[in-house]
Amino acid sequence: MRRIIREIGRERIDKLFRMAEKVFHENPELADRYVEIARKISMKVRVRIPTKWRRRFCHKCYTFLVPGVNCHVRIRSRRSTHIVVTCHKCGNKMRYIVKRGK
Ligand SMILES: [Zn+2]
Repeated sequence: MRRIIREIGRERIDKLFRMAEKVFHENPELADRYVEIARKISMKVRVRIPTKWRRRFCHKCYTFLVPGVNCHVRIRSRRSTHIVVTCHKCGNKMRYIVKRGK
């Protein structure tokens, strides 16, 4: 039973982020709202937000991020290759390691 709940949760999270991406240009506040709901689901059913979506919101102010619009992305290759995403709303910098070959 718990596995089914988690599966539904995962699907909902994915759907919410896809919706956020869709509505962002017309209604960025609604996109942020979707991020909030997705986070609540992830906490409630204890599933992690998929990596591809984890990079799409600010981990400090939870704004849905679109590169070139409300955040910028820099690639750094010192030591291990990583990307730095800067949120334009709160200035938070998030670092993500990029695996080679990807
Ligand atoms: Zn932020």
